[in-house]
Amino acid sequence: MNRSRGGLFMASKSRAEHFRQVKRLVVKVGTSLLADPRRGVNRAMIRKLAGEIRGLRRAGREVVVVTSGAQWLGRHRMGLDRRPKDMPGRQATAAVGQVLLMNEYERALGRAGLAAAQVLLTREDLENHQRYLNARNTLERLLEMGAVPVINENDTVAFEEIRFGDNDNLAALVAQLVQAQLLVILTDVDGLYEGDPRLNRGAGLIGVVPKITRAMEQAAGGVGSDLGTGGMLTKLQAAKVVTAGGEMMVIARGDKPRVLLGVLEGGEEGTLFLPSGRPLDSHKRWIAFGFKPRGALMLDEGAARALRVQGKSLLPSGVTGVSGRFGAGEVVRLVDPNGREIGRGLCNYSSEECGKIKGARSSEIEARLGYKMKDEMVHRNDMVLGGDPRE
Ligand code: GLU
Repeated sequence: MNRSRGGLFMASKSRAEHFRQVKRLVVKVGTSLLADPRRGVNRAMIRKLAGEIRGLRRAGREVVVVTSGAQWLGRHRMGLDRRPKDMPGRQATAAVGQVLLMNEYERALGRAGLAAAQVLLTREDLENHQRYLNARNTLERLLEMGAVPVINENDTVAFEEIRFGDNDNLAALVAQLVQAQLLVILTDVDGLYEGDPRLNRGAGLIGVVPKITRAMEQAAGGVGSDLGTGGMLTKLQAAKVVTAGGEMMVIARGDKPRVLLGVLEGGEEGTLFLPSGRPLDSHKRWIAFGFKPRGALMLDEGAARALRVQGKSLLPSGVTGVSGRFGAGEVVRLVDPNGREIGRGLCNYSSEECGKIKGARSSEIEARLGYKMKDEMVHRNDMVLGGDPRE
């Protein structure tokens, strides 16, 4: 039995009511569920998942899968008993394992009357606005066609700088990308516990999380299993992104029969994270989550207040400093005089140009640069306030 911590929430609005509005969901499947030390791929797991996806589709819901397991499977296939230490080694095992993985998805989804579509993404694909839109359009079309996108990180080409690193974070960004109302992370534990259930048998399962606290993050500690790269901490990071985008996330045990259907029917499955912010439109989601900013603008007190309180755009006159290197049209962090990030936005000027026009009145921009793109350095419509929810 789950010990629900969100009694009030449960009384006012049931899980079933919350999930009724879910038209589209992302399901993340962890390596621990897919790895069978004897056979390689855990075929029964993928078949079960395919059957559940069919059930969800019949109920009119669209499903996008984010799968892990490629690296583990590649290692298993090549007879390596350990994770390669170097990047090319890990990338090579991912290349071997990805084929095995997709083969199983295609077979299992095929048996369920559905088609699998492989989509491999790197962080770069989501950072570049054009590629972000391409990825989104393709995924939309796949869903329209009735196919099931099966996404993994493009491990074979992504180098450290542009990796998502773990599929929990990738899944959260995919949920943003396709504007899913729910992310379900399937793993090998029942959900989020008050402590580590492997160390403390009395630790209770948390049914509903209205807000992620520091204590939860501390309890989540390090990585979970030695199979994948994520643990509870990366799941909490994912939850922060999803809930800050106004959507819900569930962590549940993936090997339970009908677990996905149970979640969507409103059963007391796993841990439910409630939205912490209002849903953002897709342009703002991209600014808030799609990008790892390469630079920052330091704001004076007046500008910081004008953004926060009056909902104003950022003019060069309110900028006291520029850090990092970025081109025009890239996302930058907006930092107040105390060094706190108060938001992010698309900057109309490059870092070099910003350096020349910082502190200037709008009427002086042309004199300083020899041209003027816009009066605003960052327009209100291209700005999302609030710090990085992951920090
Ligand atoms: N992309 C990795 C793989 O398929 C998984 C990363 C993770 O475990 O989260 O092996």
